[in-house]
Amino acid sequence: MKRRRRIAGFVSGVLRVALRRRPKTAGVILAAGSGTRMGTDVPKQFLPLLGTPILIWSARAFLACPEIDEIVIVTRKSDLPAVRELIERFALSGKPIKTVAGGETRQKSAFLGVEATSRACRFVAIHDAARCLVTQETISAVVKEAYRRRAATAVYPIPDTVKRVDAKGRIKETLDRTELVAAATPQAFDKDFYIAVAAYAEKKGTVVTDDNGLFEAVGQTVYTVNCGSDNFKVTTPEDLVRAEAALRKREAEKEKER
Ligand code: C5P
Repeated sequence: MKRRRRIAGFVSGVLRVALRRRPKTAGVILAAGSGTRMGTDVPKQFLPLLGTPILIWSARAFLACPEIDEIVIVTRKSDLPAVRELIERFALSGKPIKTVAGGETRQKSAFLGVEATSRACRFVAIHDAARCLVTQETISAVVKEAYRRRAATAVYPIPDTVKRVDAKGRIKETLDRTELVAAATPQAFDKDFYIAVAAYAEKKGTVVTDDNGLFEAVGQTVYTVNCGSDNFKVTTPEDLVRAEAALRKREAEKEKER
């Protein structure tokens, strides 16, 4: 009798652990920029790579990632119908996908995207649509780090020697390369923590170019995950060539595995 009770206790313990749900998590994909540095009429997130728009490559990685439960795509108001049409045309499915209008700055677009996630969502992974080489493994790794630490970001090491220069272009100092990384995305956070920090930053007038900056501004630690330099942001026409070559290689490898 005692033994049976012990076994029943053990089994229910194992079941409890197995069924413990991870926090519900949303991917927030930022695609509301105008992409002026690309020099094209169409914003860069809609340019095709191997026939598929940059935004769709990013969205597919989030759809494939097991830690992501829902997706919010943030785009310019005027592009909302086009984005909905792309979602249909490229048959993005399997998870709820919402589209919302972004703001004047990346900072504002990110906040609007996070606000549009469902109430049940406890974590958000904010991603630049233009980083279309992101992998589901990178998203998983950053999100899992955020579950542990509340704030985490993808980064990659900088291979160059980096100098600080003055307004006249004169070198002032060489920065210690071992301490430098390039900030990438996704940047994942406990949602309530992010909203509190972002609202405080807004009140103070803090301007940041990535979401980590909000946390830095209030002295909160963001932990890093090395995602590799393939996760670069497509910004210039040369980047399109580089991204397409990398995607072609990746697709060929997948084909070989099949
Ligand atoms: O301009 P930048 O390359 O830094 O933009 C990074 C990402 O943020 C891009 O994917 C862009 O579409 C997005 N963005 C946005 N809303 C803005 C500006 C940029 O969603 N107002």
